[in-house]
Amino acid sequence: MKNPNTHLFRYCPRCGKKSLVTPNVKSFLCSSCNFKFYLNSAAAGIALIFNKKKELLVTKRKYDPAKGMLDLPGGFADPGETIEGCLTREIKEELNLSITNLSYFCSVPNTYIYKDVNYSITDFAFLCEVENFNGIKACDDICEFYFMELSKIDKSLFGLESPKIVIEHLLKNNNFYGLSQS
Ligand SMILES: [Zn+2]
Repeated sequence: MKNPNTHLFRYCPRCGKKSLVTPNVKSFLCSSCNFKFYLNSAAAGIALIFNKKKELLVTKRKYDPAKGMLDLPGGFADPGETIEGCLTREIKEELNLSITNLSYFCSVPNTYIYKDVNYSITDFAFLCEVENFNGIKACDDICEFYFMELSKIDKSLFGLESPKIVIEHLLKNNNFYGLSQS
């Protein structure tokens, strides 16, 4: 796998020479002063929230990348934050919901291109419970939300890859998690 940011990172931040090379997918090396920098995979959380009708909470993205496309709620972990803490914060920010009983579901690699930088992401999906949906509203970086029956979700309406894969995993594990629609 080639480093996807070769075009963007060319000047060494330490010596200033145009001598950055990309030995692999995640690192940058200055051939002049030996400076080395890693752009490792960033951690992010995805919240899988179902209502009493066992419909999945789906959001619409307010900003690029994939502005106007569907997504699952969540976001990037801040430095020093757990994924559980990240999801609790993000779901409060995005939907004004308080989540409880988080349980790990699966992890999926993702690619996120923001202002020309190609970020590698590892998304961690958690099943989450919500006491009630009374205060739900679309805020922050989402502009709308929907509850959708899993089997009827059109994955082509999602702008990023990882939510599609998580939904496929959910469909496969439908019965195990007691999410069967029948
Ligand atoms: Zn240098």
